[in-house]
Amino acid sequence: MTTFYDTHAHLDFPDFAGDLPETIERALAAGISKLIAIGTDFTSSRRALALSREYPQVHAVVGWHPSHVTAAPDDVRPELRELAREPKVVAIGETGLDYHRLPGGDAGDGGAAAREYRSRQRRLFDQQMEVAAELGLNCVVHQRDAFDDVLSAMKPFAGKLRGVFHCFGGTPAQARAVMESGGLVSFTGIVTFRNAGVVRETAAAVPAGRFMLETDCPYLAPVPHRGKRCEPAYVRQIAETVAGARGCSLEELSQMTCRTAEEFFRGL
Ligand SMILES: [Zn+2]
Repeated sequence: MTTFYDTHAHLDFPDFAGDLPETIERALAAGISKLIAIGTDFTSSRRALALSREYPQVHAVVGWHPSHVTAAPDDVRPELRELAREPKVVAIGETGLDYHRLPGGDAGDGGAAAREYRSRQRRLFDQQMEVAAELGLNCVVHQRDAFDDVLSAMKPFAGKLRGVFHCFGGTPAQARAVMESGGLVSFTGIVTFRNAGVVRETAAAVPAGRFMLETDCPYLAPVPHRGKRCEPAYVRQIAETVAGARGCSLEELSQMTCRTAEEFFRGL
């Protein structure tokens, strides 16, 4: 059976508390041979690390999600450095910028609260990129409604680290902008949604070596599981759709995406 990796799975979320061993079994049975558990704050990152110790197939990414910025310490660097030195940590994240829900209602137009929130997110993002660059790790980047700001925040780190724009839902032109910054994209179950023609177009256009596959589970279950809890086994449906869009075989897709992940995630 062809092999794929789930490069972004929230395995530490309570959604999996009842059946994680079975969930991992199903992933392995579906040919999903490596799973990356990703943290969203330090507690979650520590849980991801614990899972990486417990399961040989699980690796960990540690970091602080921009949507949880208000709970973050002013300086995440000291603790992040410690966490990131643990064995089986393969990258920093998820980090980035998310302007989808700014404080102050619709004051995304420049209200003081929104401005302050954005600049806190930016500091949090910068600190994580600093640690990543220091330790020679790449970053798993989350962005929502903040595409241009993420690209410009990453510019000073060009040549020091690369970012994967995870859960990529952009156009081929946006994907090209990511590539030009030295970055990568990765595709979730969104690529299987009926109304996501543009994402399939992007998945067809991105060169080999510049994209990976992920579930972002428990979110974004691909068709035919859409709306239910997502899990790593469903990388298979994502792979089938991406292979179909690119007109390549599953074997070719397996080779290109696994190799890309091994190059991007240190020690995977
Ligand atoms: Zn995520």
